[in-house]
Parts: sequence; C-alpha cells; structure tokens
Amino acid sequence: VSVKDEVTKSSSKSSSRVEWGRMNVFVRGRPLSTSELQANAFDCLEIADQHTTFLHEFCASDDYLRMKRLKTRQYQFDHVFNVLDTQRCVYEATAAPLVESVLSGQNASCFCYGATGTGKTHTMLGTVDDPGIMVLAFKNLFEAIDDDLDTDVTLTYVEIYNEALRDLLNPKGPSLELRELPGKGVTMSGVREVKTSSAEEVVRLLHQGNKHRRTESTRCNRTSSRSHALLQIRVARRDGGKTTTGKLSLVDLAGSERTIANEKKSSSRSVEGANINKSLLSLSSCIRALVEGKKHIPFRNSKLTQMLKDSLGGQCQTAMIATVTPSSLSLGETANTLHWAERAKQIKLPGARTKHVMREQDRRISSHPIPSYAMPVIR
Ligand code: ADP
Ligand code: MG
Repeated sequence: VSVKDEVTKSSSKSSSRVEWGRMNVFVRGRPLSTSELQANAFDCLEIADQHTTFLHEFCASDDYLRMKRLKTRQYQFDHVFNVLDTQRCVYEATAAPLVESVLSGQNASCFCYGATGTGKTHTMLGTVDDPGIMVLAFKNLFEAIDDDLDTDVTLTYVEIYNEALRDLLNPKGPSLELRELPGKGVTMSGVREVKTSSAEEVVRLLHQGNKHRRTESTRCNRTSSRSHALLQIRVARRDGGKTTTGKLSLVDLAGSERTIANEKKSSSRSVEGANINKSLLSLSSCIRALVEGKKHIPFRNSKLTQMLKDSLGGQCQTAMIATVTPSSLSLGETANTLHWAERAKQIKLPGARTKHVMREQDRRISSHPIPSYAMPVIR
C-alpha cells in the first residue's frame, strides 16, 4: 500500500493556496523535547512541503523492534513551518503583513492555538534573547513610524482567567469590565493603557506582565498555562484634522488540551476548568458558526470571543498559528489542533486584503532540511 493510498484527507474542502478574504492559518511544530525523548516518544509529524503536513499513527508490530503505520492524516495550510524556522521567519510570514494594515488604519489579529507545552508563548512572546511576534511587531512598528511625531502607539496587556479579566500591566488594580460602545467596538474599562516609543521598554513591560500570568499544575501537565493573554496595540496617526486608528491584537491562548474533563470535580480547579473550557468552547462554536456562514455568531458567550469579535468577523485580517508537538505520545491532541486549524481556514473575512506570501529571504530559512529524531522503522 502506498503512502498516498493510506492518506485519509481530513477535509475535502482544504486548499493549499493562499486566498484573499479569509483567515490565514499556519502550523508550527517544535522539536521533540528531552522529556518526550526520555519517554521514548518519536516524531510522527512529517512536513511534506510548505503547505502540507502528515500526521502518522503507528502501532507496535509482531517484531517488537519495528513499528507499523496504522494511519496517516493529511492537512493543508497556508504555511507549515519546520522546526528550524526562526522566530523572525515565523513573524515575517504571519504578523508582518498585519502590522502593515494596522499602520494603514485597519484592525488585525494573530493568535496561537495549541495544547500546553507546544510553543504558544515561545511563538508569541519568546525570550529576551529570542523575541517572538509580540516584540518583533513593536520593533517593526517603530521602524516604520521612525520619528513621526503625529503617531501614537499605545498598548494594553490583559489576562482572561476564569472568565475574569485582569490587567497584566497593573495586576493589583481593579478588575476590568468589558463594554461594547457603538462605533468603538468592545472596550475595557479601567485598563492601564501605556504609551510607548521604544521596543526595549515593551520587552520589559511584556516579560514583567507575563510573570503575573496564572499557571497552575494539573494532573496531566506540570505547568499548564490556563489563562489567555491578550496584547492589544493601538496605532493612532494624525493627518491634519483627521486621525486614523488601527488595532493589532496578539493572543496567547490557554492550552487547548482536554485534560479538564478527566480531572476530579472536587476542587475550585474544576470551576476554573469549566470556565477555560467555556472560552475555548465558545471560540470553537464561533469558528463553527463562521465557517457555516450562520447569521448569529455567539461572540457574547465568553469574554475571549467578545474581545475577539472584531478580529474574527468582519473588516479585519486574522492569522492563526496552530502550535503542535511532533510527539507520538500526544497524537490525539495534535490531531485535534490540526483539525480545528484546518476548519478555521474556511472563515471568511471580507476585510482581509493582504496576501500572505513569504519573501524570498524568509523562504530560504524555511527550506532547511528537517532533522529526523528517533524515527521508527516503517514497514
Ligand atoms: P506553551 O506556551 O504552548 O505552553 P511554551 O511556549 O512555553 O509552550 O513552550 C514549551 C517549551 O518548548 C519551552 O521550553 C520552549 O522554549 C520550547 N519551545 C517551544 N517552541 C519551540 C520551538 N519552536 N523551538 C524550540 N523550542 C521551543
Ligand atoms: Mg504558554
């Protein structure tokens, strides 16, 4: 049986071509971690080309040294990064076009979706030495604005935890309320809005804010990130008497894993689990409703979807980065993430104009050979 015959297409509507006017979806797999290798995990994510990835499911064969391939699922995306792709490469393909539209007064957003430990925070925030999208977006913005005195850049950085909003730049401050104002969309009352003009200041603010994010260990994960972090950058440009404002939302979502249902329902943790589920469930219901072209999209069902309302529907551009581990031990979660990511690709956004195409220099970074980790012997 050839690999081709074995492949089960997970979506007949999938297309590898970058289209205008819809959500652009990217996949980033990270290398196998030391703990995964110690647990005898092997790499089951194959990146076939820049748009296609295969997820292989194996089982032990009679000869215990060999593994037998059971099933292969194929997924298609706007771009599939390989494990050696740099933070800059990921930024250039996903968020750089969004920064351009925000500068011209549009709204745009980029969010990372995936299970805990798959690289959402690494991709969004990164480290001081290897900054991610949030920091690179600011660097890019300040370069583009240069010393333009007529442009103001402000930021807010909040956490949604247990369906409550907390200001990560003012963690001891009052809890925040969401308000929907006609013409202004959803706003947060009481939030600290910081005006900034230096990327160094932003790095300091974001890393400090991130320390206030709540992480709590669960039965399934040592440190499961159970909060959503949302950075919003507002760029206001004055031109004569007119001001144009663009907003960029960058979201590091809580872990999408379904550990919650398996947990014992005795602690307050299960209440929290239910709420985190509520936000992520609501996100998936909105994605489903948007894909099916429903008239009513249940944005109001959770804080997360309320805040992402102007980023998921209507006049905006949105990029989703699905983060996955290649580990054979997390196959179910990976399949789940890739399934949702592929569905999200069908969300139509009438305002999206930018075509996400990789520039030649970024493409080169992306065509590094993919190292093979403990690959099993395939019959
Ligand atoms: P999440 O936020 O999804 O829970 P993290 O971003 O904290 O996951 O990543 C978990 C670990 O994996 C971190 O130690 C991080 O440095 C590492 N990691 C994540 N993505 C990559 C990557 N693309 N390359 C190398 N290491 C990565
Ligand atoms: Mg995280």
